[in-house]
Amino acid sequence: MHSNDHDFSTRAIHHGYDPQSNQGALNPPIYMTSTFTFDSAESGGAMFAGEKEGHFYTRISNPTLDHLEQRIANLENAEAGLCTASGMGAITATFWSFVQAGDEIVIDKTLYGCTFSFLTHGLPRFGVKVTAVDMTDPANLADAITAKTKIVYFETPANPNNRLVDIAAVSAIAHRAGAKVVVDNTYATPVITRPIEHGADIVVHSATKYLSGHGDVVAGLVVGNREDINQIRMVGLKDMTGAVMSPMTAMLLLRGIKTLELRVERHCQSAMSVAQALESHPAVLNVFYPGLESFPQGGLARRQMARFGGMIPFEVKGGKAGGIAMMNRLNLIQRAVSLGDAESLIQHPASMTHSTYSPEERAEHGIAEGLVRLSVGLEGTQDLINDLYTALGAHNMQAA
Ligand SMILES: *Cc1c(COP(=O)(O)O)cnc(C)c1O
Repeated sequence: MHSNDHDFSTRAIHHGYDPQSNQGALNPPIYMTSTFTFDSAESGGAMFAGEKEGHFYTRISNPTLDHLEQRIANLENAEAGLCTASGMGAITATFWSFVQAGDEIVIDKTLYGCTFSFLTHGLPRFGVKVTAVDMTDPANLADAITAKTKIVYFETPANPNNRLVDIAAVSAIAHRAGAKVVVDNTYATPVITRPIEHGADIVVHSATKYLSGHGDVVAGLVVGNREDINQIRMVGLKDMTGAVMSPMTAMLLLRGIKTLELRVERHCQSAMSVAQALESHPAVLNVFYPGLESFPQGGLARRQMARFGGMIPFEVKGGKAGGIAMMNRLNLIQRAVSLGDAESLIQHPASMTHSTYSPEERAEHGIAEGLVRLSVGLEGTQDLINDLYTALGAHNMQAA
C-alpha cells in the first residue's frame, strides 16, 4: 500500500498499517497479551515446529511489535526488524547470537559506556577476544582483523565525542575477512544515515533516544537481513537475554517515529546555531560538531550524513572544574543523561555515561576529562544560546 517511492515521513506515518483491516482505527490496536490461543493442539504444535505462521507467545512475536519491526526495517532500508527492551538489549542479543568462545571481535575505541563495558569486561569472560582500535582510520581495522573475527562493531557519530567512522570503507575490509558489520545508529537515526545502504549488515538502536523522542520509554531495535534477524530473535532475544519490548512501549515508539524527520530536522538546525555560538564564545576551548568548518572529518560528514545531528560535545576553559561549574549555572538546559528528547539535556561523560572507562582508557580513547555533552532539544534556539551564554559568563552576548 505504501511503497518505497514515498517520502521518509510518509512511510514513517503509514508503512505497514491499514486502518481498514483494523475496524477503521486510525491508530493500530495495542495487543496487550502475553499468549495467543491455538485453534487446535495440532496447530499449536505446527507453530512450534515452524511449519505454520502465527503468534504464540509475546517473547517471540506480537502483532504490535511486528508492526513497529516492519516500520523501522522500512525506514532503515533493511529486510527485517526486531524490538528489544532497551538499546543494551538490542546490542547484547545481537552479540549472543553470533559469537562463541574462541571467536574474535573488533570494536572502535569510542563507544557508549555500557556497550564498552559489555564488550571489554563482559564478553571476554566467555572466551571471546575483543580488540579495540581507532576506526576513524580504517587501516587500523585491516591490521587487527583475523580469520576468527566474527563481528566488527562501531558507532558513528560516536558517543560522546562525535568521531565519525567511514561505514563503506570499514564494511569492505570486514567483508573481505568474512566478518559481519554491526553499527549503532542511535545518534544519526535513519533520517541522517542508513548504514545498510553503505554496506553494514546489522543496525542497532537505543530507541530510548531520538526514535522515541519524548523521554518516556527505554527501548531498543535491531534491523538486518531476514536470516540474521531471525537468528537474533530465536537465540539472542528468546533464549539468551529475554529482553522483550512491551506492546505498550511499541505503541509509544510508533507514535514517536511519526514525527522523527520533523524533530531531527529541528534538532539539527538548532544544533548548528548553538555549535556556532559556543565556538565563538571566549570561554569555550573547543566544539566537536560535524557541521562546523573546524570539524576534522568534514568530508566524511558530508558524504555519509544528510544532516549533522543534534549532539554537541564541547570543552570549556578550566577543564573539568570549568565544565561542572558551567553545568551548575544552567537554568533551562537540564542536567541529565540520555539524549534526543524535546528537552535539552547536558551531562559530563567522564563522571557519568563514560565512567565505565578507566581514566587511562578515556585519555587513550579521545574522551577528555573536561568534555561536556549537550543534547540540543526542541526549545527555541535563542533561549538555549542565552542559557549557555549566561552559564559561560556572558562575555559575549551578541550571539550568533
Ligand atoms: C543510550 C545508548 C545506548 C544504550 O541504550 P539503552 O536504551 O539505554 O539501553 C546504546 N548506544 C548508544 C549510542 C546510546 O546513546
